[in-house]
Order: sequence, then C-alpha cells, then structure tokens
Amino acid sequence: MRWDNLAETDSPGPGAGGAAALFDADAVVTRTFDTPEFRGVTFHEVRARSIVNRVPGVSRMPFEWTVNPYRGCTHACVYCFARKTHSYLDLDTGIGFDSQIVVKVNAPELLRRHLSSRRWEGAHIAMGTNVDCYQRAEGRYRLMPGIIEALRDHANPFSILTKGTLILRDLELLKEASEVTHVGVCVSVGFVDHALWRTVEPGTPAPERRLDVVRTLTEHGIGCGVLMAPVIPFLGDHPDQLRATVRAIAAAGATSVTPLVLHLRPGAREWFMEWLAEHHPQLVRRYERLYAEGAYAPKWYQRRITRQVHELATEFGIGPAHRGAARRIPRRMEPEPTGPTQLTLL
Ligand code: SF4
Repeated sequence: MRWDNLAETDSPGPGAGGAAALFDADAVVTRTFDTPEFRGVTFHEVRARSIVNRVPGVSRMPFEWTVNPYRGCTHACVYCFARKTHSYLDLDTGIGFDSQIVVKVNAPELLRRHLSSRRWEGAHIAMGTNVDCYQRAEGRYRLMPGIIEALRDHANPFSILTKGTLILRDLELLKEASEVTHVGVCVSVGFVDHALWRTVEPGTPAPERRLDVVRTLTEHGIGCGVLMAPVIPFLGDHPDQLRATVRAIAAAGATSVTPLVLHLRPGAREWFMEWLAEHHPQLVRRYERLYAEGAYAPKWYQRRITRQVHELATEFGIGPAHRGAARRIPRRMEPEPTGPTQLTLL
C-alpha cells in the first residue's frame, strides 16, 4: 500500500508544503473490530499531515476546499465514483474500497490548526464530496463532532453531503454552527425502490431513513436539500419511479432537489458493469451503448431526466417558495411505484 502517495483530490492546502506524503507512513495502525457491523472491515488509522484540500482547478465541482476524514466507504454503493481513489494506495477499487477504510484520526485537530492560520481566509469547506463522512466508521471514530466544533468556533461556512443517518447524532452541533455561519446539508437519495436499493447501495440506510434525516433537519431549522443521485438508467428512471421519489423528497420537506444521472468513470465502471452482468444481464448491451462516449450518459438523456424531475418538483412544491416544514402530499398525488420498466431509449 502506497501511504506516501495519498494525494488524489487531497492536494494539500496552504502551508502543507507539497502534494505527496500527506501521512506518516510509519504511524499507520491497522485494526479490525469483531462486531457485526464491522465484520470483514479493516481500518487503517493514519495521522494525516494536512486535512483541508484544494479541489483541482479543472474540476467541475462548485466548491474549492474540501475536508475528507475517511478514504473508502462501507456504504458500498456499486456505482461510487470515489472507487478510483483507492487505486492510488494500491488498494482494490471493488470490495477493497468497501472494506479497507483509511481513517485520518487527527482530522479535527488538524482542521482546527488550519482554521487558525492567518493565511486561511474563511472559505467555504465542503464535506462528503469524496466519500461519506457519516459512514458507519464515524460511529466508532467520532471525527465529525470535533470537525464541526472547529468550524463552529471559527464561524467557517461549510456543507455536508451524506447518505448517513448518523448525521443526526450531531444535530445540536449543527444547530450551534448554523447560528454563527452558513451550514448547508444535502442528503443523497436517488430512488426509493427497495429492491434496487438493497442490491446497488447495500451498506446504506434505507431511502426513507435518509429522508427522515431531511425531515428532522428541516424541522430543526437546518434547511436540507436532496441530491437525487444517481438516477440509474433503465432501473430507476421510469416516470413512476421518478414521481415516487420526488414525491417522497417533497413530503420530507427538502428545500431543493437536484437530479444527477449515473456516471461511470474508470474504477466505478468496471465494478458497476460486473454487478449489472450478474443482476441485470439483459441490460449490459444497452449500457454499453448508452455510455459508449465515455463516463456520462448522452446529453439528451440527462436533459430529459432533469426536465422530468424539475416538473415533478414544481408539481409537489419543492423549492424556495415552499421552504420550511415537512409537508403532507395529497393522497391523489401518491401513485404506487411500479417495478422497473425497461424503457426503449436506445
Ligand atoms: S455513500 Fe457515497 S462515498 Fe459511500 S459508497 Fe456510496 S456513493 Fe460512495
């Protein structure tokens, strides 16, 4: 494992002094825990040399600085785009990404030191942008409370993207932080279809539990959007599925919904296609055609999904004009979701 090359998007922030060697290679402690939730998982505890990472200039991401206390993710989403980053450590991007978790145990103290630096100008910090900072490991390592406390104490704006219900453990801290700075939370729910969830996101909380997070945060005055991601072609994109998902998102009181169609970058693509061949072999050829141009589905397909979701969001009243408490959706707007229908897109 190449601990001296842990750079990925973790390029060092101000004062870090170089792109490589973010860890002390000699100080890696490897642990396993004999509890059901961590069976088969290996944790690599490291002391990072920097924790605030600058997003490369060419990135299409709408943020410049990130904090990622973990590498790898037990949520084990088959499509996870972060899988590739495990290869930088010579770790497997398939099952290894799901079960070999790097824990930056000194993340809170490093962040506090960084925020105190005179060179730091208080820019927005995004979390959950590489892997989920509220994955199961966080229940044991409890890095996020110290991170949020540091951000709160410096009134530094931040945002969190997660699929983890564990974020509610830190609700009081989030409320305290939101009193002194901007706090944005976004929960990822691409679909509410349980059969699809169990196979493609096997380590995550159920979609409705994630929507409970949206509801709870909203009720406590922390506006919460939903990243409707990924919309999975031919498996999660039927109009009835989109309707059921947007309806549930609206009912949870989300302040916004942003659809994102599945993308398949190297590292994730091989793992996803292997999963597809096992679970939906009849779709393999269609996926090869849909993603023939690369990692992204064609623009026409992305535009169609975006338009459908936006129309549904308007129908169900998601958006700034409706911001606030969770709402009840009239029964007549509650069609039962049908099973996945193989749309003849191609
Ligand atoms: S929760 Fe996010 S980071 Fe974790 S496996 Fe799923 S997509 Fe990847």
